Amino acid sequence: MSLFDDLGNTLNKVANSTIKKSKELSGLTKLSLKLNSEEGDLDKLYEGYGKAQYGIAKNIAPTDALDFVALIDEKIKVIEDLKSEIEQLKGVIICPKCGTKNKVEDSFCSSCGEKLPKPEPEEPKTDPDKEEE
Ligand SMILES: [Zn+2]
Repeated sequence: MSLFDDLGNTLNKVANSTIKKSKELSGLTKLSLKLNSEEGDLDKLYEGYGKAQYGIAKNIAPTDALDFVALIDEKIKVIEDLKSEIEQLKGVIICPKCGTKNKVEDSFCSSCGEKLPKPEPEEPKTDPDKEEE
């Protein structure tokens, strides 16, 4: 039945792209593109989950249908990370506790007082093996 073949493909495709999550991406444009594609994946996962639930209700779904839940959780986390990385690049830190946007130079959340994570400054382009003087 092709409905669940599609589901399997979606699962595999999204699972692979999650594993391949690259840490090398940097720069606002790349991050935004990545965010777009991750959000597209999330939509597919929600859709797949809906179909899987239908299949389970009808007792025709494969047992791995509920794998979607774990993948959706993982995908949401990836998206949250990307969003906060993007906000950091824009000079904003999102409080990990309450979600308030704080200025990048703030150490504590202006709303709840939570200690804010220090943004990793982007490495300046220096040659690691530059000539000795
Ligand atoms: Zn807060």
